[in-house]
Amino acid sequence: MIESYIESGKIASRIRNEASEMIKEGTLVIDLVEYVESEILKSGAQIAFPCNVSINEVAAHYTSPAGDKTTIRAGDMVKLDLGAMIDGYIADTAITIIAGGNIDENYTQDEINLHEEIVEASAAGLEAAIATARAGVEVSKIGASVREAIAEYKLNPIFNLTGHSLEQNNLHAGISIPNYDNHDHYVLEEGQAIAIEPFATNGEGTVNDAPGHYIFSYMANKPFRMRSTQRILKYIQHNNAYVPFSGRWITDEFGERKGSIALKQLSEAMAIYPYAPLREKQGCFVSQKEHTVIIEKEGCTITTI
Ligand code: MN
Ligand code: MN
Repeated sequence: MIESYIESGKIASRIRNEASEMIKEGTLVIDLVEYVESEILKSGAQIAFPCNVSINEVAAHYTSPAGDKTTIRAGDMVKLDLGAMIDGYIADTAITIIAGGNIDENYTQDEINLHEEIVEASAAGLEAAIATARAGVEVSKIGASVREAIAEYKLNPIFNLTGHSLEQNNLHAGISIPNYDNHDHYVLEEGQAIAIEPFATNGEGTVNDAPGHYIFSYMANKPFRMRSTQRILKYIQHNNAYVPFSGRWITDEFGERKGSIALKQLSEAMAIYPYAPLREKQGCFVSQKEHTVIIEKEGCTITTI
């Protein structure tokens, strides 16, 4: 089990580092997510969730739909969040990059300075969290350390986003790792795998649902009159029963029309759960940094370092 966590961690961290080189002016987001997902499969691991590329005020849960024309602009705050798994043991890791290029064309120097601090703040939050994480520590203590580190930059964490425990084939296994002291007295135990993911922003620190659904999870089997929808549900049960999947994978397999109709019908019937992209309430910029760690007696091992 530990070996599989270490192996998936190595794969995810290598692909994160390689893919981050693509984060620059002019890159199509779909090329970035398809590169990450194909590299995960090539490595012999499985995709633990669709590659998320969330830009500027979008904190999380965006992945390209088929034919996505979204293009990275110079100076954009790009969050790359990916997951690989070996035998169901997941590595979940994210990084934020300010896209290179002619930044001055899109942002003022003051904005660029602020954006660099926002990126540094989530990294400092993650560092503080990792220094705090060990067996016997309450998760709220980790949250307190994250908030304190981010507050040094006079910035806020995103209060309604958290890290999470990981279990075999289970990306969000029930325990939340807050980004502030939420008074959750749950005590971490040796051997637990958790993903720690501080988000920092110059806004108030709340995210809301934004329009569109690009990422889904299987929920339950239901009967459907439309044959293509029934067939697509079978396909999802077979291929994506445990961890989230991309709407793009469905429309690539079954065509834009049948795929989109099925995703809508399946969501409405709660056979699948649609995740909305999450956007900072005031439209302020958001950074994220994430590692997966294994809790130990005297600290933790970072699998995605
Ligand atoms: Mn993640
Ligand atoms: Mn995560």
